[in-house]
Amino acid sequence: MSVQRTLAIVKPDAVAKRVVGRILTRIEEESFTILAAKLVHMSLAEARGFYYVHRERPFYESLCSFMTEGPCLLMVLEGENVIQRWRDLMGATDPAKAAAGTIRKEFASSIEANAVHGSDSLESAAIEIPYFFSSLELYPR
Ligand code: GDP
Repeated sequence: MSVQRTLAIVKPDAVAKRVVGRILTRIEEESFTILAAKLVHMSLAEARGFYYVHRERPFYESLCSFMTEGPCLLMVLEGENVIQRWRDLMGATDPAKAAAGTIRKEFASSIEANAVHGSDSLESAAIEIPYFFSSLELYPR
């Protein structure tokens, strides 16, 4: 166990559905610290860069287009074992397979428009956090 940071995103489908507040409540109930947060409407180039690891997947273009449909809430969360704990709270990628009580089960519309993102490892978090947040934005308060 260690204190970690992860990149969390409330995706455009969940922002459009006006469930940001309910997702933030779940985050606060877990006692994660929201270190930084901002609403960003990604360009196609920004979405493509963020999902570069998925560039060979058949859904890549569709996913990037979906991520530009509207603003996302980008956050850096901090806490004990937060990478796995946030992914547990998110639930499976496909909401049809997500466990009861998870955010995706409750709020996702499809395997693509699935409400939230979370870094899947320390290595991913180390790439994803600086993709959107500068060290100034993460300055300890
Ligand atoms: P995650 O770690 O649970 O977010 O899942 P992945 O890293 O495998 O995929 C990244 C994102 O791509 C997912 O959150 C979905 O938005 C999207 N995605 C994953 N699988 C599919 C798929 O089979 N079809 C489509 N259209 N989108 C997908």
